[in-house]
Amino acid sequence: MTNKIFVTRKIPEIGIQMLRDRGYVVDVYSKEKIPSQREIMAFLRKGGYDAALTLLTDKIDARVFDAAPSVKMYANYATGFDNIDLVEAKKRNITITNAPGDRTAEAVAEHTIALMLALAARIVEADEFVRRKKYKGWVPMNFIGMDVFEKTLGLIGAGRIGERVAFYAKGLGMKVFYYDVQRNQKIETDCGAIYCATPEEILRQSDVVSLHVPLMDSTRHLINTDRLRMMKPTAYLINTSRGPVVDEGALESALKSGTIGGAGLDVFEFEPAISSGLRKLQNVILTPHIGSASVRARDQMAEIAAQNIIDFFEGRIPRNVVHK
Ligand code: NAD
Repeated sequence: MTNKIFVTRKIPEIGIQMLRDRGYVVDVYSKEKIPSQREIMAFLRKGGYDAALTLLTDKIDARVFDAAPSVKMYANYATGFDNIDLVEAKKRNITITNAPGDRTAEAVAEHTIALMLALAARIVEADEFVRRKKYKGWVPMNFIGMDVFEKTLGLIGAGRIGERVAFYAKGLGMKVFYYDVQRNQKIETDCGAIYCATPEEILRQSDVVSLHVPLMDSTRHLINTDRLRMMKPTAYLINTSRGPVVDEGALESALKSGTIGGAGLDVFEFEPAISSGLRKLQNVILTPHIGSASVRARDQMAEIAAQNIIDFFEGRIPRNVVHK
């Protein structure tokens, strides 16, 4: 019998083609918008699909599983999988995979460094200043920023992405400290990164704090009012992980009051909604969850997700099965 796959949004063709080359029927949601959960349920139920290739914006929970009992596998087109209820999936023996890859780690790490340098060199403010025709000649004391050479970068989470950030930061001459629930010997050896046993140690001594943990119960609001108060008043917070890792209200207050120096955010607690207060602040740079938006990363994500589906249907354990 032909396997039927539903893809919830247009993704790079390379992944779709891999599935079609296997003879699978592949239907791609065609609207230029995020499908609602109701739409996803309706498509899956009506089409009698065997697998779904989903995005981080798709909430896949018991409602979806119950509405579409034919779907035995969900391949998430993302490194994260916090959009999927793994407990409910396990109860129903449904296989869930994610799509982590080296290209994604590199792209997100580059984006992290880009946010850090843009904050440090005040690129966005300065660009706006020039565009508004305010530049009337060189001024010795305008747009004084922070140099990152010999400054301290504190990583919270040192998996694939954190590790890459450490590597790039070392190239910039930064001292790297990290906190993780597991030690990462590779960054200690390759980047001279120093392990800290608590996030507090990272927050107190870092000039830049960068978050690279998955969103889980243990990491939700990992950065809150108390922890923001531990940071240096000049320090920058970079978040390219998941929005709810930071209490965004607390961050907005900390940025307004000068508790910390600035923030670079690619992800938001209630995205796509972003508080108007945050949008008005000069000392924050906001990007719309584009950390992995490079051609190579997105192609690799499509290949990984497709390969996970192929492995599942060909009786192999997919490489990227995720569990609670
Ligand atoms: P990874 O699984 O390789 O690394 C995550 C690290 O976090 C691991 O080393 C793990 O031990 C550590 N960790 C887990 N819980 C922790 C805790 N409570 N405290 C400290 N450390 C903890 O994942 P990765 O590939 O490095 O990706 C990290 C996250 O980045 C993903 O889960 C995803 O949410 C996010 N991400 C964002 C984008 C983007 O576009 N902005 C793209 C890809 C991934």
